[in-house]
This record gives sequence, structure tokens and C-alpha cells, in this order.
Amino acid sequence: MNYLIHFSEAVTPTSHPKYQAYTLKQLRKIPQLKDFTEEQLFAMEVVAHVLPFRTNNYVIEELINWDNVPDDPIFILTFPQKDMLTPSHFKQMAEAIRTQDKTHIKMTANAIRTQLNPHPAGQMEHNLPQIEGKPLSGMQHKYEQTVLFFPSQGQTCHAYCSFCFRWPQFVGMNELKIAMKEVDLLIKYLQKNPQITDVIFTGGDPLIMKTASLAAYIDALLDADLPHLQNIRIGTKALAYWPYRFLTDNDAKELLQLFKRVNQAGKHLAFMAHFNHPIELETKAVQQAIQQVLRTGAQIRTQSPVLSHINDDADIWAKMWKKQVNLGCIPYYFFLVRDTGAQHYFGVNLAKAWEIFQGAYQQVGGIARTVRGPSMSASPGKVQVLGVQEVQGEKVFVLQFLQGRQSDWVLRPFFAHYDEQAAWLDDLKPAFNAQHFFFEY
Ligand SMILES: *Cc1c(COP(=O)(O)O)cnc(C)c1O
Ligand code: SF4
Repeated sequence: MNYLIHFSEAVTPTSHPKYQAYTLKQLRKIPQLKDFTEEQLFAMEVVAHVLPFRTNNYVIEELINWDNVPDDPIFILTFPQKDMLTPSHFKQMAEAIRTQDKTHIKMTANAIRTQLNPHPAGQMEHNLPQIEGKPLSGMQHKYEQTVLFFPSQGQTCHAYCSFCFRWPQFVGMNELKIAMKEVDLLIKYLQKNPQITDVIFTGGDPLIMKTASLAAYIDALLDADLPHLQNIRIGTKALAYWPYRFLTDNDAKELLQLFKRVNQAGKHLAFMAHFNHPIELETKAVQQAIQQVLRTGAQIRTQSPVLSHINDDADIWAKMWKKQVNLGCIPYYFFLVRDTGAQHYFGVNLAKAWEIFQGAYQQVGGIARTVRGPSMSASPGKVQVLGVQEVQGEKVFVLQFLQGRQSDWVLRPFFAHYDEQAAWLDDLKPAFNAQHFFFEY
């Protein structure tokens, strides 16, 4: 409570009201890189040709501790690292860049990307809802109560996480018009599916959008006759990468007013906020931003994957969850990093992930134990690793679904043969010589 009182003071203008983004083209203009060698800079450029790179002045000046570089977790989180490509991909890309042939560079980058499993877990083939026989490409409806909605203007972020594999789509003009058209279809779909209680705006990061664009979507939902729609969720990393979105951006006030309107319309607004490291919770800007969001009546739930080189340590997670609860946020998901992009660099195997989770969980009080994990968003559903156990002489993983493609799959414990190396559901074989997992029949 003290905390709330403390932060209800007027927001003081902070040091970086103006957003400055850096992408591959401006990499060498980042002042903090001035002492990097040509070889280091070139290595970053090579990787950034394959894995998209973008960072900004808040991340560079307030989150990264340059005295810790190259080991600084936020540096690794946002700047391309040589080992994120396999040596052969790295070599291939470096050679292509040296030819200075633009077409060749592009083709090489794309060829490597297609080998990095850009659409994991059958995201593209399955889950596409239809209306009047036509697929709705900006939506995904996998779990009964919840649809994911990808507003076309929200498919980029304030900075890019190096573990995230995406090709941001910039759509230049007519933001509002596109928004209205998309949300019309969403509303139609919701009206035909009264079992849906939750719409999740996701991306990219929907909060990259101007308030006016986001409001076009959200106000339309509030104005539509959708009594079964109870929760509007926004999946965002803006609190971590650009908290000024809620403080000093030109339309920050309007954004907070929009959040209030959701609350006043009797719906719950929930942020699925993405934080990877406790450092992201330490600046004055993020703390003020969290406070502003909470004051609109919204709630902030937090989630992150467990990442080698960044947060593969129980103490880091315990510290992060404690800080989140202290700031009024609710720890929600602890994810395994999916089988895409630089998984060889970031991946943590199931056994180690569970150890980290268990090691962190035991350090925090009950109100931080709302977090669930380790969870992998695999194609049959969200699968949680409950632990490692020995049953009649066989070492096994105990697992369960937190969300399933079929809703009655949830909370049915099942067993997989223990495998130290396994990093994903696909790597697992059923225990006790069974031929299939129960969900494979
Ligand atoms: C995680 C996820 C959701 C949301 O699941 P909750 O458990 O309700 O947070 C919805 N759709 C997909 C496809 C997901 O992966
Ligand atoms: S914020 Fe989320 S969507 Fe954006 S780059 Fe990071 S992981 Fe990817």
C-alpha cells in the first residue's frame, strides 16, 4: 500500500521523453558501440541480417549496464550475438554480405531463415478461425474461451528480443481504416462464438500503435453487443522496452483514458506483460508506468520464457517475481523458449528449466506463486512440466496440459521417459513403453 501512495505523486518528466529507434542501418551510430572493434560490429551485422534487430534509447541508456557488456543480460537480449547463428550459417551470411550484392544478401538471409522453423507449432496451418467459409488471417482461436487477435498495425515492437523470430510487417498508410475493417470481422466472429470470454491483442506489440488506432479496435469491442466478452487482454513488452509509452508519449494520457474506459464498460483489462529480467523492473520510468496502468483499474500479469545467457538462474526469477508482486503485478507464466530462431543459443532443457522453476518458486511467498510453469506452447496445447520422478524403477517427467487443443485434456497428468537433453514436447517419448501419449490417439 505504501507503494501505491508513493507513486500516486504526479509523474515527473523523465530523461527520455523522445523515442529513438536503432535498426541494422543505424547500428554503427549507437554511441555506446564506439569502442567495439570492426570484427565485433561486423559480427553483429551478420546476425542482424538474419534475426531482426531493433533497439532504442531507453534500452541502451537505462537498461543496459555498459560496464557489464558483453555479458549484460539486456545487451544479450536486444543486441545480435555471433553465436545466435550456427557457425555455418554465420559464414554463409558473412560471405554473402561481402559480395555486396543486395539480391544475393537477401536470398541468403531468407534461405537461412526458412531453416530456422519460422512458424513453430503449426501456428499457420491450424487455429485459423473462419467466418462464412473465409479464413480470418489476423486471428487465432485455439483454446475455447480465448481468441488471439493480431491487429495489423501492432506487428512490430519498441525493441526486438533476440530470441524472438519474426519479420515485422510495417503497413504504412490508412491505419485507422484497416483497424476498423479488421475489428468488424473480429466482432462478427465473437458474436457467433458466445463461449469466448477473452480477446487477447497481441503482435508484435499492440502498444506500438498510436492510441487512436488501438482505441479504434477497443472502443469498437466495447460498443458492440458482446455480453460474453469479459476480458480484454493486451500482450505487451512496452513496459519493459518503452515505459514512456504510458508517461510522456504525446498520446500517453489518451492511452490511460482508453484503459479506464474498458474498466468503466464493465470489462476487465489485463496486461500480459513481458519481462525477462529484474533489471527491467528497476527504473523509475517502468515503476511509474506500472503505477499509471494499475490506476486505470487494469491488472498486469507477467510472463517470460526461461533463456540461457539471460535468466537461466533460480535467484533471478525469484528476484523478478518478488519485485513484480511488490509493484502490484501478478506473475503468470514461465515459458520454455519455442523451437524456432536461435533456440540452440537460448534454449534450456526441460530438466534444467524445472530445476530453475522449483528453485525460484520455493523462495517466494504465496502471492507470487500464481505463476505456472515451466510451460511449452506446443501444438497440442500448453504443456507444463510438473517435475521429475521415479516410478517403478523408471525415471520419468510428469507433465500436464494447462491448455489443450481439446479442452478435456487439461490437468490430466501424463508421463514421459526422462531424457536429460529433451528441450521440447517433440523430444519426449511416452514412459512405461507406451506407444503413444494419451493425446496422440
Ligand atoms: C497462451 C495462449 C492463450 C492464452 O492462454 P491463457 O492460459 O488463457 O493465458 C491463448 N491462445 C494461444 C494460442 C495461446 O498460446
Ligand atoms: S517483445 Fe515479444 S514480440 Fe516483440 S520482439 Fe520481444 S518477444 Fe518478440
